[in-house]
Amino acid sequence: MIIIASSLQAVKARIARAAQSVDRQPDEITLLVASKTQPAERVREAWLAGQTIFGENYLQEALAKMPALADLPIEWHFIGPIQSNKTKRIAENFSWVHSVDRVKIADRLAKDRPESLPPLQICLQVNVSGEASKSGVAPEEVAALAAHVVRLPRLRLRGLMAVPELTTATALQRSQFHMLRELFDGLKRDGYELDTLSMGMSEDMDIAIAEGATMVRVGTAILGPRRYLIPEELAARAAR
Ligand SMILES: *Cc1c(COP(=O)(O)O)cnc(C)c1O
Repeated sequence: MIIIASSLQAVKARIARAAQSVDRQPDEITLLVASKTQPAERVREAWLAGQTIFGENYLQEALAKMPALADLPIEWHFIGPIQSNKTKRIAENFSWVHSVDRVKIADRLAKDRPESLPPLQICLQVNVSGEASKSGVAPEEVAALAAHVVRLPRLRLRGLMAVPELTTATALQRSQFHMLRELFDGLKRDGYELDTLSMGMSEDMDIAIAEGATMVRVGTAILGPRRYLIPEELAARAAR
């Protein structure tokens, strides 16, 4: 079994190398550990090794895991597709949501965010690959969604997120990260105060960092193989 403390150190070293190779500071990049399918004990082990930010994709799974970790002040990020009947419990249990891709979901999260909690930190998920199966707002609709979200109470717009195409073609991946970066810079030029470009996973974090990522979401490189395949992976496997 993978020793989490050492894989965490190895990933941090990889982030630092990727940053330095493009003259960025390693501390400009925040590490989120994607813990979907991993049991609470693995999350605790990563916490004990110094990791404080974790991302979950499935509400039911996350809610089942959280009680066993309630003694730890973990910063939970929701990074999976959002159904509108799930917004209440997402707004109650997470600090960040990376996967806002439509007005209806943003409105509901704003309404559902408890007054007793700080504003919910939001990234808009952009469909940079144009794949019909992918979540995310179309690139040409990002500006309108940002204009809507920034005016909602109880939410704070922090930036953009994307999951590029699962491909071994690094040039294609790079162009999709680059597109997200351009959209991010465009919004900042329009006056939005954004600081988060959430992109890069186990396989492609180095390219994402070269293209400007400020947050990478890393699962398998730190926690080891997932316990079961997620729907997106099942679909990709079936298509191969
Ligand atoms: C699973 C997942 C990750 C992490 O993927 P790995 O390849 O395991 O590093 C990052 N972001 C999202 C949205 C995910 O679903």
